[in-house]
Amino acid sequence: MLKDFISNATILIASFTVMGQIFKNMPLFPSSSHSTKLYWGICYGILGNILMVFSFQINPTTFADLRHLAIVVAAAFGGLVPAIISSVIIALGRITLFGYTDTAFVAAISALLTGIVCGWFSKMNIQSTLKAFYMNLIGLFFISIVFAIYIEDTKTLLNVLMIHYLISLIGGLFAYQIAVYIANSNEAARELNQSLIKLQESEQRLHKANELLNTLSYLDGLTGIGNRRHFDEILNREWTRLTSIHSPLTLLMFDIDYFKKYNDTYGHLAGDQCLQSISTAIKDLIANHPFAAFCRYGGEEFAIILTKTNLEKAVDMAKLIQEKVKSLNIEHRSSEISNIVTISIGIASIIPSSEGDPKDLIHLADNSLYTSKANGRNTISTS
Ligand code: GH3
Ligand code: MG
Ligand code: MG
Repeated sequence: MLKDFISNATILIASFTVMGQIFKNMPLFPSSSHSTKLYWGICYGILGNILMVFSFQINPTTFADLRHLAIVVAAAFGGLVPAIISSVIIALGRITLFGYTDTAFVAAISALLTGIVCGWFSKMNIQSTLKAFYMNLIGLFFISIVFAIYIEDTKTLLNVLMIHYLISLIGGLFAYQIAVYIANSNEAARELNQSLIKLQESEQRLHKANELLNTLSYLDGLTGIGNRRHFDEILNREWTRLTSIHSPLTLLMFDIDYFKKYNDTYGHLAGDQCLQSISTAIKDLIANHPFAAFCRYGGEEFAIILTKTNLEKAVDMAKLIQEKVKSLNIEHRSSEISNIVTISIGIASIIPSSEGDPKDLIHLADNSLYTSKANGRNTISTS
């Protein structure tokens, strides 16, 4: 009989483990969804039937099994609904598997009553292991009635009940603890999984924020075009790249004429707006030029780094830029050379070499710009 008991206990453990795996993302609680309760109820019902098939002999005429434990565990975890579903399946199984007899009918009723009473009892607010123990006793109580009906000899009855109670109580405690252990491990695995997902999400957010931060660190806050850092990086990168292919690097710098007077006349906010209007217009103008990088060099000074562009083409571009600024028609009544905002442009072109330095190009373009200013502003100079 010990062998039978161990095989029944093994079936229980194996079933709980398999069910735990199948439904690991569908834990059974009294608050679970109806579908979850239905699935678990069916599984516990099937488990009860398997236990019935593996019933063991207590004496020459009496068989017992641990089927009621399937109902008890269903009720302990999920309450009334899975308890009733499993008990109905067990009751039907008792009749269909072993044929319809008086004994089968009484045993089926006993299973149904176990489901109803255990399901109702599961609502009691007591410690869960104790509750499972009481529910086990409830199941045993109904089994005792069945035995009492069919075993007439009192001594045999007491003997059968004693063995059955002993096996069921030990097996029940054991089975319940295993089911709790599996449910807790699944819960821990789910929590771990959720923490991992959250960690991955925050890593992604951090990554995006870093990318944004990186992009922003190269942009000028007022105009939205590349800042001085961007300018320096591109100029150095292009200088190194063009050194190896002996191709010209051209720098176009422009500066707003009499901008201090503009600020003094219209205020700093208007000055900011003027800088924005000019940078947006020039950005649009050179948007289709594949070899131009437009940056704010500092203050009211802007720079365009040009590759694959000789001095002649750069002058053409400078003329377009000047025209564009003129077309904006921004009033500047304190300018000494015009009644609208104008710009002076300086251009320089160099074939970069490893002996030279990008700063040489900046100096040359700056000198050209100075020449434009010296020549009366609103002009273009080259070197
Ligand atoms: P020039 O024709 O010789 O270039 O004369 P300028 O007045 O434009 O030259 P200067 O360098 O003396 O003045 C530049 C002015 O640009 C001074 C400064 O207040 C203004 N400025 C620089 N950055 C900003 C800015 O971000 N916003 C505003 N509103 N003004 C700025
Ligand atoms: Mg200026
Ligand atoms: Mg200036």
